[in-house]
Amino acid sequence: MRAAVFYRHGGPEVLEYRDDIPVPQPAADEALVQVRYAALNRLDDFVRTGWKGLELAFPHILGSDFSGVIAALGADVTGWRVGQRVVANPTLWCGRCPQCRAGQHNRCDAFAILGEHIAGAYAEFVRVPARNLVAIPEDYADDAAAAAPLVGVTAWHMLIRAGGLRAGETVLVVGAGGGVNSMAIQIARLAGARVYVVAADAEKAARARDLGAEWTVDRQAEPNWSRAVWAATGRRGVDVVVDNVGPATWSASLRALAKGGRLLTVGGTTGYEAATPVNLLFGKHLSIIGSTMGTQADFEQVMAQVWAGRLTPVIDSVYPLADYPAALRRLLAGAAFGKILVQVA
Ligand code: ZN
Repeated sequence: MRAAVFYRHGGPEVLEYRDDIPVPQPAADEALVQVRYAALNRLDDFVRTGWKGLELAFPHILGSDFSGVIAALGADVTGWRVGQRVVANPTLWCGRCPQCRAGQHNRCDAFAILGEHIAGAYAEFVRVPARNLVAIPEDYADDAAAAAPLVGVTAWHMLIRAGGLRAGETVLVVGAGGGVNSMAIQIARLAGARVYVVAADAEKAARARDLGAEWTVDRQAEPNWSRAVWAATGRRGVDVVVDNVGPATWSASLRALAKGGRLLTVGGTTGYEAATPVNLLFGKHLSIIGSTMGTQADFEQVMAQVWAGRLTPVIDSVYPLADYPAALRRLLAGAAFGKILVQVA
């Protein structure tokens, strides 16, 4: 089959587009899906670069998000049929450990992510556990469906489950262009929160307002955006900050919080070592809450909102699978607003 693969860790130059990769065989509890669209995530870049302790079976195929059609089913799979259009929760779990039995799939002892630890979706076929699948409604487009899963389940778990977001609260989203943040803005609005956004430029600020942000600040025009948020909230601060940037924004995010506020994070695009002003933590009774990916319940809930049109996956651009490196360059340049897709079939 055709696939974007790599045989060793490194920069984008290690990527290869090949047409001789064997079609995977589904295990008894898995579905084999013929991929139509896959979506890029920052995770792709981290996995390809590699880290100490990451052991992949090469060639490795990246890609955590896809839409596609069931091509084959393992012997034990019930409730699905060949030909159904599906997406999948990219969170992988064992189903047996205490966290899994409590429904906390993203805390599984054997936690893994599709495309990170096992072969992903930049290929004609991908195999996934059937319990991860959700059917795409007949009238819903394949490209928009592929743009939703990872960022949707991640943002939903972060804000609703881990963050306990309530109607009437104020949420500051730091950065507007990434897939998680464009979904977080919409989920916060759906939950009845008022949304503030720090955007990289005026155009991204305007796009954030289109998604439901009621107040935006362009950090090029206002580098001291934390003070601007403070002023805009009547010197109270916000209840929740979503910061997936890390060191570059961390202390400013903490300063923007109201007393009792929560800082939520699911990533750090500028690194992982950030200075925390401890006096702010105790002085303002702040909480820092991390989470990663989401449970199957989170996935089913967020996809139901997507299918109903209450959350709109934002598509930045679409590339053919063979041009995956060009799509990756756009992601790494930070130029995208929303999801970058590759069309496979
Ligand atoms: Zn488990």
